[in-house]
Parts: sequence; structure tokens; C-alpha cells
Amino acid sequence: MVNIPSTDKKRVVIAGCGFAGLTLARKMKKSGYQVVIIDKHNYHQFPPLFYQVASAGLEADSILFPLRKIFQNYKDYYIRKAEVKSVDSSKNQMNTSAGIIDYDFLVLAFGATNSFFGSKEMEEHARGMKTIAEVLDLRNSFLLNLENSLTSKNEEERNMHLNIVIIGAGPSGVEIAGALSEMNKYILPKDYPELKDSRVQIYLVEAAGRVLNVMSSKSSEKAQGFLEDYGVKVMTNTKALGCDEKSVTLSTGEKISTSLIIWTAGIKGNHIDGLAPDSYARNGRIVVDRFNQVKDHENIFALGDIAIMTEEKYPNGHPQVAQVAIQQAELLSENIKRKLANKPLKEFKYRDLGTMATVGKNLAVVELPYIHFHGIFAWFVWMFVHLMSIIGVRNRFLIFLNWAWKYITYDQSTRILLRPKGCA
Ligand SMILES: Cc1cc2nc3c(=O)[nH]c(=O)nc-3n(C[C@H](O)[C@H](O)[C@H](O)COP(=O)(O)OP(=O)(O)OC[C@H]3O[C@@H](n4cnc5c(N)ncnc54)[C@H](O)[C@@H]3O)c2cc1C
Repeated sequence: MVNIPSTDKKRVVIAGCGFAGLTLARKMKKSGYQVVIIDKHNYHQFPPLFYQVASAGLEADSILFPLRKIFQNYKDYYIRKAEVKSVDSSKNQMNTSAGIIDYDFLVLAFGATNSFFGSKEMEEHARGMKTIAEVLDLRNSFLLNLENSLTSKNEEERNMHLNIVIIGAGPSGVEIAGALSEMNKYILPKDYPELKDSRVQIYLVEAAGRVLNVMSSKSSEKAQGFLEDYGVKVMTNTKALGCDEKSVTLSTGEKISTSLIIWTAGIKGNHIDGLAPDSYARNGRIVVDRFNQVKDHENIFALGDIAIMTEEKYPNGHPQVAQVAIQQAELLSENIKRKLANKPLKEFKYRDLGTMATVGKNLAVVELPYIHFHGIFAWFVWMFVHLMSIIGVRNRFLIFLNWAWKYITYDQSTRILLRPKGCA
């Protein structure tokens, strides 16, 4: 049993402290419940800026926030760094890597991970962008490939190190393609003048007919135009069929030589055992009702990316984005308090606040509920929204400073290749 003081208050255990878990935990302050936060990391992370860390534009610690600092002034809050393994709902207990934890209410908010659609070779060779560890690994591989390109034995090997294949052209794929190609245009010629005749070539592979499939076709066209101006080779209606450590094979019959494959094409829910069999849906998401209550479990809730809830407007579930996670958490905090007061619960209804993606300096597409725009104004809106969403004055200041510096100088400061002990 994990050591957590028992009090006469009912205990809410929040498993996962991403957008959903963090919002819920903050809103539960002074709720009359004891709050226990479980996360496998000791920090909260901000995935919308992962691509900037991956492309050496930001240091990782400017988008990570220590959980203990966030909850310093919260009374009757307990944080345990542990990995959730399973639930025993008959005993109101959760099994974690640190031991068993009792709960009165359990909230599952542990998000999603990469889905490689069953391809073992993709899982082995492609790099995902779902955690900061994956993102740092990606950044290091990119920087290492640049170094290796200079010591390649022949042109074929050099091209393999300089080709990058990004699979999936949703917002994450488009943003990482934009950031890497911007670096290729403005920074690499200065850092690697010897490579002047052979630059990095980025391929963006998408099975659907257009990039940014979640946005309007006008925004897709604009984003594709921005990317192509930067030299990205956009390949729509194309599937990646297989890969090894030196190449990717496409449905067009083409084989691209590469030692860096970036995977942004699919996600699936992080899995735990122990829920009723029909609580699990396609893609590993957990089925919830309009109160985020897990099917067949009265005191277990699921929020954010891991949950699948249908509404008239979203018959296949909500998009797996931060706003859904935040809005669900806000309502659940209210509903859990309503439970204590024996009041009826409120149903969730998603308010879509809009979608945006950026390709590079002065280049972004923004779709708000009543207005769509693109270009420099969209880029400033994108920056403002992301800056305001960052937790902590220090981190906001660091990111602002970094962006301002980059805007003026076209340079970025974090091209340091750091590898674990034993790796070259
Ligand atoms: C690269 C990238 C870019 C994105 N860009 C955007 C964007 O621009 N706008 C947008 O709206 N959305 C974006 N998203 C999606 C957005 O990040 C997610 O929708 C959101 O993070 C979901 O919140 P969540 O709380 O459900 O899960 P997460 O934020 O993923 O949080 C899950 C938490 O659970 C923890 N955890 C996981 N497994 C376990 C376990 N077994 N035990 C204990 N703890 C566990 C993790 O450490 C993490 O803290 C992006 C996602 C990615 C990956």
C-alpha cells in the first residue's frame, strides 16, 4: 500500500497530470476532498511546443513544470510519482508501480501514446513525439545525422543522413516539417557551409488527400504552399508501407533513403487493465458518458485523450486536443463537488474554440469559430495563444525571449547534441 495519510475527507485520485489532470487538480482546491495525484513523471508537459524542442528551437525545461512546485500551496494534496498499472473496482483500489492506492473517486487522465497500426518495423525505426524523452531523442538524432553527413563515405550515405521522412501531415507533422525546413533554410547554411550543394530534404507523407485534414481545404492549401516554399516535398494520397533503419517504402512504389523517420500518423490510448471489457473502445480509448463517467463504473471517470464521449456533433468522439481535456476537467471538478452536495450532475458539451497550426516565421493558419485567416497576423495570434497557455512566469518569459531573439536574428540557441553515457 502506498503511504498516503488517511483523513475523514473522501479521496479523489487523479491518474495522469497532463492538461486534463492538472486542470482538475487545480480546480479541486478547497473542494472538501483529499486529492492524490499520480504521474509517471514528476512534471507537467506542454506538447503543443514539442516540435520546437525537437527542432532545437527551445530548451526542454521551458515547456516542463515540476508538479511539486505547481502544488506547493495546496492543502491535503499528495503527489506520488508512479506508473498506473491496473484498477480493482470491486475494492476501490488502483495498482501502481509504487504499490496499491485506495480511492473514493478515481479519475483516469493518462492520455495517449503512438499507434503504429501494428507495424513492428515502424515501431522500431520511427521516432514519435508523444513524450519529452521521445522529442529529445528525435532532436539528438537530427543533430547527429547532420554531423554524420560530413563524415559519410559517399553521396548515397550522405543523402541518407540528410533525408527526413515525416509520416502524417496533421498539425504535429506540419509543424515539425515547417520548423525543420526553416532551420534548413536559415541556420544550416551557416552551421554547415560545407554542405552547400546538398541540403536536408524533408518529405511529408500523408495518406489523405491533403495536409491538415482537420482544417478547411483553404487552410490546407495555404499550409501546403508555405511548406513547399520552404522546400518540403509534400506527398498526399501516399502511405508509408514499411521501413528499415535506412529507408521508407511508400505506396507509390518509391523508396526513400533516410536514417530519420518521424511518426505523427496515429495515436492510441495508454492502457491499464481491470475495467469492464466494454469500457474499452477502438484505439484503446475508454468509453465515458456525458458526465465523463466510465461505462459500468459509478465512481471512475476518464478525461481528455484517453476518454471517448459522443455528442450529436461528435458521433465518433471529440478530437484529441487540449481544449477538450481542459473543458472536461473543468466540468468534472464541478460535478464531483455537486456529488458531495447531492446535487444533479451537469452534462458536458464541447465548445470548439478553434484550430491553428504554424509552419514558420510569419506563416500560420488559424480557424476561429466565425473567422479563418492566415499569414503574419495568424502567426502572431498563434504565438499569443501558446504563450498565454504556458504555465509559470519564468517559462513564459524564457519562451518569449527565445522567440523574440529568433525573430530578430533568424537564429536559435539550442543545437547541443547530448547523448546518454556510452553513446557517441
Ligand atoms: C506533438 C504534439 C502536439 C500537439 N499540439 C497540440 C496543439 O497545438 N493544440 C492542441 O489543442 N492539442 C495539441 N496536442 C494534443 C494535446 O497535447 C492533447 O490532446 C492533450 O495533451 C491531452 O491531455 P490529457 O491530459 O488527456 O493527456 P496528456 O496531456 O498526454 O497527459 C497525460 C499524463 O499522464 C501521464 N501518464 C501517462 N501514462 C501514465 C501511467 N501509466 N501512469 C501514470 N501517469 C501516466 C503522463 O506523464 C502525462 O503527464 C498535441 C499533442 C502532441 C503529442
